[in-house]
Amino acid sequence: MQQRDPIPCQNCGAMMAPEADGRTYACGFCHTRVQVAIDGAQIAAGMHLDLSNAEALLAHLANTLSQGFSEHTRIHAQGSYVHAIEVDTEPDVFVLKREGHRLLAQHRKVVRGIALRTETVALDRWVQLLTDSLARLANSNARAAWVLAQIRH
Ligand SMILES: [Zn+2]
Repeated sequence: MQQRDPIPCQNCGAMMAPEADGRTYACGFCHTRVQVAIDGAQIAAGMHLDLSNAEALLAHLANTLSQGFSEHTRIHAQGSYVHAIEVDTEPDVFVLKREGHRLLAQHRKVVRGIALRTETVALDRWVQLLTDSLARLANSNARAAWVLAQIRH
């Protein structure tokens, strides 16, 4: 887990430490509470992804995304055997699917349901793009803290 630095309280200037969600800071002196935005690196760190193990990566991502971002995620699976994962954070759509024994990672730009272009990207780049989009999504709605709590086991 990425450790966040303490920040000064806007009200009294005392240093505030982050709470367990990594996003809420509380002041021990005046009890001011603030929320800070989360970033993709925090989400990636929270997910603890092992990019060298395709099998575990698919299963882990499917599990995490269906918990934290279910309305944006489509999992193609037979039982626990995951074939493909699709994450729609329009205008960015992310697809991770099996191709033989390897994984094919794709990033697609979509506007109003129309795919503008599809790129095959390296897995580490794909994870970076995905987690950046998830951070944007999380920051734009009130569930960010909940989402972070979900992915940090
Ligand atoms: Zn304070």
